[in-house]
Amino acid sequence: MIERTLYDSEHLAFADSFRRFIDKEIAPHHAQWEEQGYVDRAVWARAGDNGFLCMTLPEEYGGAGADLRYSMAQMEEIARAGCSGIGFGLHSEIVAPYILHYGTEEQKRRYLPRLASGEMVGAIAMTEPGAGSDLQGVKTTAQLSAGGSHYVVNGSKTFITNGWHADLVIVVAKTDPAAGAKGTSLLLVERGMPGFEKGQRLKKVGMKAQDTSELFFNDVKVPAGNLLGGPAMQGKGFVCLMEQLPWERLQIAISAVASAQAAIDETVAYVQQRKAFGQPVAAFQNTRFTLAQAQTEVQVARVFVDKCCELLQAKQLDTATASMAKFWTTDLQCKVIDDCVQLHGGYGYMWEYPIARAWADARVQRIYGGTNEIMKEVITRAMGLPAR
Ligand SMILES: Cc1cc2nc3c(=O)[nH]c(=O)nc-3n(C[C@H](O)[C@H](O)[C@H](O)COP(=O)(O)OP(=O)(O)OC[C@H]3O[C@@H](n4cnc5c(N)ncnc54)[C@H](O)[C@@H]3O)c2cc1C
Repeated sequence: MIERTLYDSEHLAFADSFRRFIDKEIAPHHAQWEEQGYVDRAVWARAGDNGFLCMTLPEEYGGAGADLRYSMAQMEEIARAGCSGIGFGLHSEIVAPYILHYGTEEQKRRYLPRLASGEMVGAIAMTEPGAGSDLQGVKTTAQLSAGGSHYVVNGSKTFITNGWHADLVIVVAKTDPAAGAKGTSLLLVERGMPGFEKGQRLKKVGMKAQDTSELFFNDVKVPAGNLLGGPAMQGKGFVCLMEQLPWERLQIAISAVASAQAAIDETVAYVQQRKAFGQPVAAFQNTRFTLAQAQTEVQVARVFVDKCCELLQAKQLDTATASMAKFWTTDLQCKVIDDCVQLHGGYGYMWEYPIARAWADARVQRIYGGTNEIMKEVITRAMGLPAR
């Protein structure tokens, strides 16, 4: 195996401690959380108490000032353990960074320490029933009131990760519906604002403990001070969304590789103890070649993703390369896990087997964060091919 150079001993020690947290606070409850359709709210506070949320935020905002590799290691551990209900990554490395990078000082002080402690759960609401891939088609509006004191938000969002637990939602809305992408802004909408309602927790094929929800906004009066970044950022929401894409897509790739590796490890153990025709399943050439192929491809993927992680840290990861990582590793994850299910035989189709859960959890990785078809569109644009 090619030795990884992404992490140093401190990152690895951190990964060990987070693994112990998963073993104690998450894994024993995850099956029950899948049954109920959401993780217990208390796990957020416990993660906050232990310093496992928003670690990369500066200390003055409640973080640990950690470098991004701590978050990367954490994402790998969650994927490895198959704890797909845990939405820490989106909370810590998508929601909080928007506020850190674009928020006013007042917004940072108001929200970031509460996200870091787990007092608030964060979500980001872009997708609507009628607009997913085509984000410019967002219909949710945020109309500035006559006196300029607040925005009136109307619309609905769907498929929102952490949506049901969320206390703070970054809502993508049109402040100038006639201006296309240039009329898009980001609003900080809090639980309890009149007219902001949570819809159903959506029943999904996988990630069953994740509280993915619908959100509704009916004449919600959002104070003007909750426009992310203040008045100067009105109409600049789309630019923020585009700037954050490389890291968001890389996060999916990181978990794809870790999850595929976990499936291989699980299967290597299984095929050695399962017997057919008087010999371990591991003895069949098909089993061995399938696993050799999977391990080769996952190693290739890991080297590429680790390189992308280094580039991201150096602020040199471009959107097209991040899109390559997202589409290629998630396709690979699904292929590898499907092969691993096959090597488990009928047991691979039983929910109590981790490989079955991993298979169901994996499928969405090719869909969210921008579908893999959209990733290919982004790549072709960087190649100089004309847009559709
Ligand atoms: C479990 C889960 C969690 C999610 N979490 C969040 C979240 O936290 N926040 C959020 O805002 N959203 C979230 N999403 C939404 C997700 O990002 C969207 O589902 C995704 O972007 C696709 O949009 P869509 O579902 O509207 O599909 P559509 O856009 O309707 O796509 C349908 C099909 O058409 C294809 N297609 C569309 N346009 C093109 C094109 N130009 N070229 C080629 N093919 C194209 C797509 O690739 C796809 O195959 C989540 C989704 C799921 C399932």
